[in-house]
Amino acid sequence: MPLNRRAGMSQVLVLNASYEPLNITTWRRALVMMMKGKAESLEQDSSRKIRHDTLLPTVIRLNHFVRVPLRELPVNRKNVLHRDSNCCQYCGYSGEKLSIDHIIPKSRGGKDTWENVTTACLNCNLKKGNRTPKEADMALTQTPHKPMSSLRFEATKQINAGFHKEWKKYVIGWN
Ligand SMILES: [Zn+2]
Repeated sequence: MPLNRRAGMSQVLVLNASYEPLNITTWRRALVMMMKGKAESLEQDSSRKIRHDTLLPTVIRLNHFVRVPLRELPVNRKNVLHRDSNCCQYCGYSGEKLSIDHIIPKSRGGKDTWENVTTACLNCNLKKGNRTPKEADMALTQTPHKPMSSLRFEATKQINAGFHKEWKKYVIGWN
C-alpha cells in the first residue's frame, strides 16, 4: 500500500485495554467503535474536526481487554533469510548458495533462536565450521535480532514518514 499523506493521516492506532497495540484501522471504524462505547479516544488530530466539538481520533483504546493469541514468527530458513535481506552476514554475498548458520554451533548447545541464527553463504559456513565467530575470527555485519511484527513495522514506517508522531510512545519498546 503506497504511503500517501491522506491515507497516513486518517489511520488510527488501536490499543488493547492494557495499552498494547492491536492493529491499525480507519478513522471511520474507530468512530463506530467509539459511538458503540467500545473504545475511547486517547489522542486526537487537533487540525481535523469531525463535528463542531469532536476531533478526529488518531489513537483509541478498547474499554474491555481482548485476549489475543500470540503470533510468534517461526525461526525457519525462509524467515531468517528474509530478515537478513538474503545476504551472508559474514561476507555480504547474496546469491543462491545461502545457508543458516548457528552462531553458537548446535553441537555446542546453540539454540534455534532469532539471536543465535544468521544467514551465511556456504563458503563462510564451511570456514566457520564448529566454531563461534570469535574463535573463527569472523565478524558479523550486524547483531541478529528478532524481527519486528508486521504491525510494528507498519506503525514505525508511518512514524518515520512523519505521520502520527503521537503513536510513538505507544509503540516504543514493544514488538
Ligand atoms: Zn559469506
